[in-house]
Parts: sequence; C-alpha cells; structure tokens
Amino acid sequence: MKATAAVFPATGAPVAFHEVEVAEPRDSEVLVRMTATGICHTDLSVRDGIIPFPLPAVAGHEGAGVVEAAGRAVRTVEPGDKVLLVPPSCGVCGPCGTGHPSLCEVSALRWSGRRLDGTPVLALDGAPLAARFLGQSSFCSHALVEERTVLRAPRDVADTTLAPFGCGVVTGAGAVLRVLRPGPGSSVVVLGAGAVGLSAVMAAAVTAATRIVAVDLVPSRLELARELGATGTINGREAGDLGAAIRELTGGGADFVVETTASTQVLRAALSGLARGGTVGLVGAAAPTEQLALPLVQLVSGAMGLRGVVMGDGSPAFLRALIGLHRQGRLPVDRLVQVYPFERIDAAMADAAGGRTIKPVLTFG
Ligand SMILES: [Zn+2]
Ligand SMILES: [Zn+2]
Repeated sequence: MKATAAVFPATGAPVAFHEVEVAEPRDSEVLVRMTATGICHTDLSVRDGIIPFPLPAVAGHEGAGVVEAAGRAVRTVEPGDKVLLVPPSCGVCGPCGTGHPSLCEVSALRWSGRRLDGTPVLALDGAPLAARFLGQSSFCSHALVEERTVLRAPRDVADTTLAPFGCGVVTGAGAVLRVLRPGPGSSVVVLGAGAVGLSAVMAAAVTAATRIVAVDLVPSRLELARELGATGTINGREAGDLGAAIRELTGGGADFVVETTASTQVLRAALSGLARGGTVGLVGAAAPTEQLALPLVQLVSGAMGLRGVVMGDGSPAFLRALIGLHRQGRLPVDRLVQVYPFERIDAAMADAAGGRTIKPVLTFG
C-alpha cells in the first residue's frame, strides 16, 4: 500500500515528504495508521549523523495510532484497536526472558533499518528505504511493525498524550520507578528538565521521596517542574557550585540523581552533591565517542553507584501502569506536549532542538 513518509534524505538535510510503498503485513506483523508521533532527541541525532542509522531513512519512535491490519498469528490486537508503539524486543533472549525487554540483545530490531531477515518494510521509487527505526519509524502515515512493538491502549487517553509514553515518558519515569526506586524520605535530583527529566520529576512525585529537585538552564522549565512536583529547583546558569546547591536543597546530598543531559560536565559538577551511598541513573544518550573521567577515590569512598538505564527498563506491564497513573491524573504528561501538524515536522524539530518546546507531537491528517 501507499503511505506518506517524512524522510531524512542525508545528514543534516531538511525533511522531504514522499509517497512510499509499505510492504504487506506478515503473519507476525501489524499495520498501524498513525494518529500522533512524538519527536525525541534521538530522532534529531539520526538526522544529524550523531547516531548512526542508514540514510535516507524514516525515523520516529514515539507513536500512537489505530490498527489497520494484523497478520494471521497476531493475538494481542485486532483492526480498529487503538495502540501505543513501544520499544522492539525479540521475546526469547536472556533479558526478554527475565522481564527486561528494553535490554533485548537483538539490536538489529532497533538499528538495522529492515526486518531481521533483511527485507525492507518501506520502498521509495522502487528502492528499499531504511525504516523500522527503533522497531517503529512512526514519521509516516502508516507503520508496519512486529506485534511485540504494539500495546493496546485505552480510548480515553488523547493520542497526542499517549505517543510520548513509548520513549520519553517511559525513559524518565522508568529510571525512577523501575531502576532507582526511591524509598520514603529520600531525595531525587533530576538533571535536565526536558521531556525525560520532567517525566522523572512526575514519577518521583508519586513515590514517597520527600525532596525532588530539578536542575535546568531555562526558568520556564523549572517553573513547570515545580508544578509537576519538584520541591526545589536549581538554575544551573545561576548556581555557582552545582554540588553545593544540590546539597543545600536535599538537606545534605542527593540519594538519587537522574542524569538526562548526557553532559559529562553537568554530571561531574553534580557528583559532589550526591549523598554517601547515593546512586546516579545515567539516562541521557551521549554520542558514541563521548568519554567520562571521574574521581575514583570519591566514587569508592562515597560508596556511589553509577547505573546506566535503557528506556527506563520499561515493559508492557510497566507502560500500562504508567498509562493508568496518567488516567488518575497522577502523571500529567499532557503538560509537556505541544502539537504540530505532520507537515511541520521541520519546525517541530527546530523547536525541540532549540528548547522552545518540551515534547513536540505531530498529528496526521
Ligand atoms: Zn526517544
Ligand atoms: Zn530479546
């Protein structure tokens, strides 16, 4: 069938809209008509060649939509169902088998641009077009994905709110609720108040943590962080010594730090604000060449933990729980979203890159 795709033609080039050919769904596949898709910094990194993915390509990995067709072996959804696109996983490797599908060992599901057998799912002018980006490629009117990449979603959640649950929301909220798990009376410091950081703030606000501190450079984002549950904020531009500012607002040091900026400079500055025995969750996606130098003595004597977190260690059950929290009004993801029509993807990406929009979400049709 034909679909309309926003194609990244070459490194750094503006998006080009094309009519593309979508392959027929196989037995295990689902064809989703997209209704909304979020833009994440990982998409910008692909466009800019920072994260390697074969171009030209269709990116996008935060999608919501309606099932249009399902293969014969598909059991969990049927045509007409509203769905959220979620990170891909194989279902049989070690991490998948132990409830950690975000750590699935089959990285070709995320990065190869094709099905596992090498066949393309999209074609442009008769030539294969890289897709299946992070298992999805939601910057297209239709996404042909594996059944494990869709999750049936409740109809009463707006599609524009639902879409970012698949990456930005689960990444920030999962870092807090699935990985760091702050206990009663603990303190959580979130470095960076973008979509991931603010999702971490909202998640911390549904735990028994009593001090939640957001750090950013943009005053309006810090204000929003307060409205979403932060008990204190630090403007990194104004705080001379970030570690000292963190120690002050946490009453001695942070038990948990969620690092979303992917800046080694920010991380090093924040480390001196970590409490003894505290843990840093590393969430921000750095360039593959980025290296980190840390004071080893401080790490050891402070009994500090450094923990990488991938997609919030999310799972379908956890995503359902997050959507449930949202429906109760306890995870107001809609506060992060600004809606743009699909045709304005370049403007939306520019607003995301420039920090003017926290979570741009594109709508179709
Ligand atoms: Zn993402
Ligand atoms: Zn797997």
